[in-house]
Amino acid sequence: MKRCHQELERTKRVHRQHLRQTHNWPIAIVDCVCEFQVGRFRKQKAFGCHRAQCLLCHFDKIFGVASVKDRIRDQRYRDSLDDYFGSNTER
Ligand SMILES: [Zn+2]
Ligand SMILES: [Zn+2]
Repeated sequence: MKRCHQELERTKRVHRQHLRQTHNWPIAIVDCVCEFQVGRFRKQKAFGCHRAQCLLCHFDKIFGVASVKDRIRDQRYRDSLDDYFGSNTER
């Protein structure tokens, strides 16, 4: 997934910040599941509940509802097909 790599630096920064603030990291030994799990600190939805299977937060992904971006992309595809075949029949 592209977004993961785009946000990797930010995610690592938040992870280090958590280790320092919560576990006193460079001084003390970290004894927490989060130590090597950087992915826990990825950007979250502002009002999300952090559960991947939550129907309230992720109903569109779970039920396969097309997002606005998906709809725009589909419409562009149909328009381009219309343009292509429309221009061929005029000749
Ligand atoms: Zn932790
Ligand atoms: Zn939720």
